[in-house]
Formats: sequence, C-alpha cells, structure tokens
Amino acid sequence: MTIRTPVKISQSIPTLEGAGVHLRRAFGFGDTALFDPFLLFDDFRSDHPDQYLKGFPWHPHRGIETITYVLAGDVEHGDSLGNRGTISSGDVQWMTAGSGIIHQEMPKGDERGRMHGFQLWCNLPAAEKMCAPRYRDVTAAMIPTVTTADGAVIMVICGRVGETAGPVEDITIAPQYLDITVPAGADFSHPTRPGDTVVAYVIDGSACFAPDAKTESGNCSLLVFSDGDRLAVRTANRQARFLLFSGRPLREPVAWRGPIVMNTEEELQTAFREYHEGTFLKHR
Ligand code: FE
Repeated sequence: MTIRTPVKISQSIPTLEGAGVHLRRAFGFGDTALFDPFLLFDDFRSDHPDQYLKGFPWHPHRGIETITYVLAGDVEHGDSLGNRGTISSGDVQWMTAGSGIIHQEMPKGDERGRMHGFQLWCNLPAAEKMCAPRYRDVTAAMIPTVTTADGAVIMVICGRVGETAGPVEDITIAPQYLDITVPAGADFSHPTRPGDTVVAYVIDGSACFAPDAKTESGNCSLLVFSDGDRLAVRTANRQARFLLFSGRPLREPVAWRGPIVMNTEEELQTAFREYHEGTFLKHR
C-alpha cells in the first residue's frame, strides 16, 4: 500500500468575483495539470451580506461542470432555459454546462446573514464538452452518511464509500466528492484509486495529512496529494472537517477564458463569438 503525501499545501486566497463577491479561491486559472480533472475551487463562506449579495449575475458556461455545495444560507439559481431553483443548506447542485448555459447565481444568505458554500469546477472531456446541459439537484436528505471504524463521519455526495454510493452518478471522470469529519485523536485511513488526482480542502479544525507530518493544516488549507492507494489523516486534540475530491485526470489540452473551458483557442473564440451573436445556446 502506498500512502499519499501532500505535494502542495497552500491557503485559499481572497478574491473578488462576479458582481463584487468577496470569496476565497483555493485554486483556479493556474496549474491545470496539477489539478486535472478539476479546474477551480472557490470558498464563499461569509457572515457579512455586503460581501456576497451582489452575486453572480448572468454569465455563460461551456465545457465544464460546476458543483455548488451549500452549508448555510440560500443560493437562488436561474438560467436562460427557464430553470429556477434554490440551493439551500446541505444541498448540492451538480450542473453539467456542456454545450452551454447562461445563468445567474445569487447568494441570499440566511436569517443570521450567513452564506456558507463552495463551488468546484470539473473539466469535461473533449467528447462531452458540447453535450446537452444537465442538472442534478441533490437535497441534503439525499446525501448518505457513513461512519467508519475509525470514527470518521463521511457524507457521500459523489462516488462510493464501501457499499454506500452518493446520489450523483454517471460522471465520466468518476469523481468522488466527500465531506469528511474526523474526530479528535483519530487515525483515519481512506482508500483512493491509484492514478486519480486527490485534493483536500479543510473547512474546520485541523489535521495532519501525512503519516509523518509534523504540522497540522487548518481552515482554508488546500492539499494536493501524490499518487497512491490510501490517504492517512491524523488528528490531535481537535476534530477536522474537510472536503475531499478525487477524479481521473483527462490529460487533454486546456483552453480557458473566464467561465468557458475548451480544448483549443479556436473553440474558445467560437464560444465567445456565439455568445455575443446570441447563438450560444445549442440545446433548448
Ligand atoms: Fe456560474
């Protein structure tokens, strides 16, 4: 068995996005090979409505999937095909933009002003970049929880833990998206498929993410792991909660501008031209 060790540890960075949303970006618009098949991860947790209410008004996506996970507050969503909905506490929206959607995402928070959520972008393989858009709306009640022998509690959004499968299936990169809480004073071991890219983002507490690590990683830490078939996480006097996502790398060329990610510059130019000409939407 080969235990994965962190090859990169960093902190998410304050970033201004959308119409003026203050969020923290863990990765994106950088080393696409390191994170392949993932493109971007934003942490939009805030207790101050003025930091998020401006939201993400109308914008297009093509060639990717965006996965929004909300822990507190509401995000109102609408798209130009007439789809409308609210992503509430504990819910996940797994949106496959495919050939294109034009949508807006407006964080509304809760009665206490809290808006806690995350958005992950997954790349689509070349063969699926122009597929029909698809939504998978996952409510909190649909997400199964597994308690492991070492006392960890795992919420399975996508992928499989033991015999328990998450509600989101049929994704080509075969991703796993887990919300894991490891209690204090625990040694947590988790199998990972060799060859997959594995990334963790700490959202509460702290833990050591390698068997011989001396330093703990706390809130807002991002870790990318070496290859291996197992992840080892150790906690001391605090519990740790982290999001873990893994998937099969695509190893395809990436042409990326803003919210559109294709394989070639020509495809990018086509996408932006179609957006400005009003011919962007291919599936109605
Ligand atoms: Fe968007």
